Amino acid sequence: MQAVDVRIQGRGVVAMGLALALGQQGLRVALSAPVAPGGAAADVRAYAINTVSRRLLQRLKVWDALPPDAVTPVHDMQVRGDAPGAAIEFSAWAQCAEALSWIVDAAELDTALNRALQFAAHVQRVDALPQAALTVIAEGKDSAARAALGVRNVRHAYGQTAVAARLVAAAPHEGIAHQWFRSPDVLALLPFDRPVAARSFALVWSLPDARARELIALDVAAFERELSDACRGGPSGLRLAGERTTWPLAIAAASPLCGPGWVLVGDAAHVVHPLAGQGLNLGLGDVQVLADTLSAREPWRALGDERLLQRHVRARAWPTWAMARLTDGLLHGFASQRPWVRELRNRGMGLVDRAAPLKRWLAAQALEG
Ligand SMILES: Cc1cc2nc3c(=O)[nH]c(=O)nc-3n(C[C@H](O)[C@H](O)[C@H](O)COP(=O)(O)OP(=O)(O)OC[C@H]3O[C@@H](n4cnc5c(N)ncnc54)[C@H](O)[C@@H]3O)c2cc1C
Repeated sequence: MQAVDVRIQGRGVVAMGLALALGQQGLRVALSAPVAPGGAAADVRAYAINTVSRRLLQRLKVWDALPPDAVTPVHDMQVRGDAPGAAIEFSAWAQCAEALSWIVDAAELDTALNRALQFAAHVQRVDALPQAALTVIAEGKDSAARAALGVRNVRHAYGQTAVAARLVAAAPHEGIAHQWFRSPDVLALLPFDRPVAARSFALVWSLPDARARELIALDVAAFERELSDACRGGPSGLRLAGERTTWPLAIAAASPLCGPGWVLVGDAAHVVHPLAGQGLNLGLGDVQVLADTLSAREPWRALGDERLLQRHVRARAWPTWAMARLTDGLLHGFASQRPWVRELRNRGMGLVDRAAPLKRWLAAQALEG
């Protein structure tokens, strides 16, 4: 095995994206070998990818390799509360943007990254990672290497489970994403083109654990009835188009995020609730900033120098903290059953919808991450 500059432990989108980015800089990288074919069930989720992450994936030559029907632009977004008239509408047109986000098939993104890595001259994929000046830990939320380093991971379980599935609607989605914020659930329908072009949605339905278990146990027809009820005012005739999968939800933050010769990125460093569809975007933000930080290092500075890694950690502190506070605040604000909180949030939605500059600012934050 050849000597390497950086070893990356993990095989998710963040690990693979970082390997490609560092390989493009000419650094010699060792990355955990991919899972053997048939070794892991295909991910039924679809990610909402923001403009910044899309640009990164374009530079890594991954974006254009995705099958056309695995990427759907979101042109409009309708967010509803739990009172009539409590709604906010966002549009790409009002943002002067090409799209508000892009909904990307999770399994296809994984495949495209794995394929791009086969052509990455400086990246080796190995089962046993060799020693290197820098170890990047991108093992996801349950990272064992993080625990072995004795890093504190403060995790708070929300007592919620996300139910994810693919759906087909009776009518075209027209590039509109729908989201319902209410107590006790948050439901998102992301427009998608698989399995049926222009009529599919990716579902992410966050519910209290017990309610999620109930819904998963229902037969298909009963589940679809519950779904139609929950999506009132949105797309009609929603039908399940495959398996329902579940994801336990939590917020987590690790500390410290780096030390001599090592750094944590992606979900190994921070986990947020998926209600804003920003967890992976945060991880890809880590990829961009770490790659930039390593590339801008002084010629005499080693890759594993803790001072260098601290620069990366400082640059990521605010975006990560702000996203964690935003998602957590939204979740708690909308979970409250108190009548005055409910009144306030529903009125607040109406106010935001009428305040064009504030609405534009909110949409820009989601777009640019
Ligand atoms: C229901 C749901 C919907 C979501 N939707 C969105 C969305 O729309 N937009 C968005 O931006 N984010 C979304 N997210 C968040 C997103 O899924 C995560 O933030 C993202 O997958 C984190 O990527 P990662 O590579 O850091 O970790 P992971 O995806 O967890 O990947 C880490 C990988 O490394 C492997 N691994 C662990 N240990 C080792 C080891 N020692 N050696 C080798 N490999 C190892 C793991 O098995 C895993 O495959 C969603 C999350 C959920 C739960």
